[in-house]
Amino acid sequence: MQLGTVPERLARNQYDVDEGTPHIEVHQDVVRRTGAAPLLVRICPAHVYTAEPDASVGFTAAACLECGTCLAVAPEAVSWHYPRGGFGVAYRQG
Ligand code: SF4
Repeated sequence: MQLGTVPERLARNQYDVDEGTPHIEVHQDVVRRTGAAPLLVRICPAHVYTAEPDASVGFTAAACLECGTCLAVAPEAVSWHYPRGGFGVAYRQG
């Protein structure tokens, strides 16, 4: 069985986003003050974060792999918790 490339394997994941209760909240004032945007962009394996020209960070919670790394490296800039039951990522689909 051939596993495929990492992007191909990640593409098999499915995400059910809890639109009413997002599991990621970014504190843009802290991101700007601490310059955390490049760090968040670099450490996220799912490319959830994007650096914006105004030193803030954009994010797309739908792609989150729930590894918790962003919370570990920038706990003041990011509020993060696991999605409610039934929401979030489902691995190894297909
Ligand atoms: S928990 Fe992991 S995958 Fe999700 S946004 Fe943070 S670093 Fe990215």
